[in-house]
Amino acid sequence: MQRFQHYIGGVFEDGAASFESLDPATGQPWAVMPEASAADVGRAVDAAWDAFCSPAWAGLTASARGKLLYKLADLVQAAAAKLAALETRDTGKIIRETSAQIAYVAEYYRYYAGLADKIEGAHLPIDKPDMEVWLRREPLGVVAAIVPWNSQLFLSAVKLGPALAAGCTVVLKASEDGPAPMMEFARLVHEAGFPAGVVNILTGGPAAGAALTTHPKVAHIAFTGGPETARHVVRGSAENLASTSLELGGKSPFIVFEDADLDSAVNAQISGIFAATGQSCVAGSRLIIQASVKDAFLAKLKAKAEAIRIAAPDLMTTEVGPLCTQRQRVRIAGLVAQSIGQGAQLVTGGVVPEGPGFYYPPTILDCSGLPDAAGLRQEFFGPVLSVISFETEAQALALANDTVYGLASGVFTRSLTRAHRMIRGIRAGVVWVNTYRAVSPIAPFGGHGMSGHGREGGLAAALDYTTVKTVWLRTSDDPIPDPFVMR
Ligand code: NAD
Repeated sequence: MQRFQHYIGGVFEDGAASFESLDPATGQPWAVMPEASAADVGRAVDAAWDAFCSPAWAGLTASARGKLLYKLADLVQAAAAKLAALETRDTGKIIRETSAQIAYVAEYYRYYAGLADKIEGAHLPIDKPDMEVWLRREPLGVVAAIVPWNSQLFLSAVKLGPALAAGCTVVLKASEDGPAPMMEFARLVHEAGFPAGVVNILTGGPAAGAALTTHPKVAHIAFTGGPETARHVVRGSAENLASTSLELGGKSPFIVFEDADLDSAVNAQISGIFAATGQSCVAGSRLIIQASVKDAFLAKLKAKAEAIRIAAPDLMTTEVGPLCTQRQRVRIAGLVAQSIGQGAQLVTGGVVPEGPGFYYPPTILDCSGLPDAAGLRQEFFGPVLSVISFETEAQALALANDTVYGLASGVFTRSLTRAHRMIRGIRAGVVWVNTYRAVSPIAPFGGHGMSGHGREGGLAAALDYTTVKTVWLRTSDDPIPDPFVMR
């Protein structure tokens, strides 16, 4: 079996313990992963802290940091095929998507490489005649980055890119599910020439996560995962008072009006819920459809869903591969059964297939008239779409906002005025109009409510990894006057 190692303080090493990683397409172990103990995590944070204080990193100009990031981007691009194959093998995500997504991950590093020397301070027009006052933008310190199994390279890039551009150092904890691409990525960080300890990459489960988030030398925690884990992260941050950014789950509304281009909307819905086998935080998992076109839309959607090619994830022709874990499949099957028990109608799918691997078919549940069904309330994180219909625009908006989440949303209409009203009314961090699941390093991404807080991507994300130092410099040569009066 292939063996992977941690990357701590510039050295590749085994973990305190190890575990086997399963190939989701077969359910069989294929690799041995290191498992970080609290002591391993502690050494990684110490290495990151030492690097943060060292001239080798702290003494670099911002432009030099940018050049390292450019180098990393080139290496990621050159290694995209290898990284994609590893991600596909370890997570079951189809090769068609991992190849395209990882090549694009390089663009995130390029974007933040270019931004490194554009993070500017400011000079203040202070209201005192004998003072110069300015603000320095300084790196926060050691960043703990924690990612879930889906799209680990991508979800790491939106943390590492801005953190390194700002001058922070990082301990990245890959998910214990499917960490192989992150372990390989560490080799690229090493090759790019980042000083030892600037980036440390390890894996492990909740214990490693808890050790990392509570560590006294951690200044910021950039977390992507589920809301329940986020609560642990925030509790952990009570120990070190680290700031947090939380990218959590969603139950995103996908709203289709009768005047929409239905064929286009059907394709977008297929992409929104069945791509990546539905294991996407922005999955458009609630179809909110105008009643007048519901039957026509569902007929087209069902036909397309049933024609999806479900097969091994390493085939370029596969459209839906296995879920990442058996645990995930059991959970999804349970939530589907619960929804049906609550009165939802099964339109298609819903049957766990025989045979090896963690496959689950594209599934559609009609939950019309059941606003509290599990299908409309809970994030499944799988290929399950729940449908509810509406008559009026006001009802569509009320249904869209009837959720504790607020991550993404889609609106399909040909009416410009309606699109604008919906954009204004929807409570979500992202609104896609007549499209879905588009991302870019230039566009901020994130949510509110149970979907978390903070934004990744875009200019502001780099500023989030900085803190402001206010500098007061007195320009007068006269002695300080009355010491008992505040200046
Ligand atoms: P998870 O919350 O179970 O795990 C996420 C990470 O947290 C893993 O690395 C895990 O090891 C770690 N972790 C577990 N316990 C911890 C603890 N006590 N302290 C610190 N870290 C701990 O998430 P998951 O099930 O792996 O991933 C699915 C979730 O991630 C979904 O809810 C999905 O919507 C969300 N997600 C969000 C985004 C986004 O950008 N908003 C993107 C992808 C996934």
